Amino acid sequence: MSKDIATPNRTKEILTEHGFSFKKSLGQNFLVDPNILRKIVEASGVTKDSGVIEIGPGIGALTEQSAKIAGKVVAYEIDGRLLPILADTLAPYSHVEVIHQDVLAADLTAEIRTHFQPGQDLAVIANLPYYVTTPILMKLLEEKLPLRVIVVMMQKEVAERISARPGSKMYGSLSVAAQYYAETETLFTVPKTAFIPQPNVDSAILRLTARETPPVEVADEAFFFAVVQASFVQRRKTLLNNLAAFFSGRMQKEAVMAALEDIAIDPKRRAESLTMAEFASIAKKFGEEKV
Ligand code: SAM
Repeated sequence: MSKDIATPNRTKEILTEHGFSFKKSLGQNFLVDPNILRKIVEASGVTKDSGVIEIGPGIGALTEQSAKIAGKVVAYEIDGRLLPILADTLAPYSHVEVIHQDVLAADLTAEIRTHFQPGQDLAVIANLPYYVTTPILMKLLEEKLPLRVIVVMMQKEVAERISARPGSKMYGSLSVAAQYYAETETLFTVPKTAFIPQPNVDSAILRLTARETPPVEVADEAFFFAVVQASFVQRRKTLLNNLAAFFSGRMQKEAVMAALEDIAIDPKRRAESLTMAEFASIAKKFGEEKV
């Protein structure tokens, strides 16, 4: 069998052979450490019965490691220049399909139905382009796709924000949104030296395990997320000030204060100290006030 795509030498050979030049604007930093790639796939728990969706296969380094284990891999790549390269590097893996598309424009619900078996174990395994990490992740979560797990590499700081807990400086609306849909863990960090070209920031692997049901009961998800976001708009301000600004024109500040006191939440607290259950109780209370 040929050498792994991801060894530094083989990667350089492939890039030279095809005269490929990196596009920074597409977040093209390719991993050149087969051990790290294997650890990423291992962390997903996929087996030969699983299907894998990859976003941004590049020259196929991670795709190859997923394909060695999973029954089917579907990879979305936006850069058409990579398609002939992928056709070449992934030729030994007939159960891999590369789709030339911006993943943000893909109808993933329909595509999952086309490419995978009903009820098949499904994972997303990807080294995400850093310029669109959050929109991609939120799309995967909000569309409520039938995914068991998402294992993705991203900028370390973003991974830390997503998995941050109340009381941490990193905790914010992104943490609440991601943790509403999934259990989140930062698994390990990856040094800049594992990439060609090297990014300016350190990277980390984040695992999101889908929840069967959300951890809190929310009547109106859009309103809940709007309240969470509004609470964090000015992190240094109190919950009262942020919420009074959000509800201004609909509710007096005194009424906002009274509503918070009614549910035993101190209006002087800051959003970063609130648990998801407390945000849910705020959304419920203000939802009932019909603001
Ligand atoms: N998986 C490869 C690896 O680990 O070496 C490459 C990862 S590189 C960080 C990100 C890849 O995502 C690039 O191949 C880039 O062209 C692709 N990409 C960027 N934006 C995309 C989008 N919106 N949809 C699909 N692919 C995208």
